Amino acid sequence: MSNPKSRNITWTNAPIKRGERADRNGHRSAILWFTGLSGSGKSTLSRRVEKALFARGCQTYILDGDNVRFGLSRDLGFSPEDRTENIRRIGEVAKLMLDAGVIVLTAFISPYRTDRDVNRELVEEGDFLEVYAKCGLEECERRDPKGLYKKARAGEIRDFTGIDAPYEEPLRPEVVVETDVEDVDACADRILAAMKERGILGE
Ligand code: ADP
Repeated sequence: MSNPKSRNITWTNAPIKRGERADRNGHRSAILWFTGLSGSGKSTLSRRVEKALFARGCQTYILDGDNVRFGLSRDLGFSPEDRTENIRRIGEVAKLMLDAGVIVLTAFISPYRTDRDVNRELVEEGDFLEVYAKCGLEECERRDPKGLYKKARAGEIRDFTGIDAPYEEPLRPEVVVETDVEDVDACADRILAAMKERGILGE
């Protein structure tokens, strides 16, 4: 939606700049955009990484799948259009939080490559780290932490990613964690290391 409905609107520059917030916080803000199949480990890893960041004194916040659908996206379902709109809203919220100095961790399947790329383009180069929680469908289905695959296989849930809806793998994610190969700690450590490499965190 590049054309806003409202007319007579003017952008107002913020009195406090992002750099000033970063100086006070002792770290840059960023968006860690987790993507992957249901059960691939997005929630688990975003929580683990957030705890580590919080313990270091960072400003952090997680935007997670179902929670957003209770409020911000309560009018949306799982059709392709609704999924796209859901991800667009989350991208805009993440952008606001980025501006507020926060390290935002988003944990959504976000199955469409274009939707993720649109959100990447919303912010400056280096502010968006796509973290691909890579895990084979078979292992995700074996884990089935919310019992959703079972329901999808039984036909009780339609449009379920990996079963009867597509998942488009990232082409150039900043971080890939193979959650069916590495354990949670190893994956979280690699994500934190990638943040240090990019100067989001100090050593
Ligand atoms: P998602 O948010 O992607 O739907 P969850 O984080 O809810 O996935 O579930 C992932 C499940 O896989 C959890 O039960 C978690 O304990 C398990 N798991 C095993 N290994 C890993 C790993 N390396 N990273 C993340 N989760 C893992």
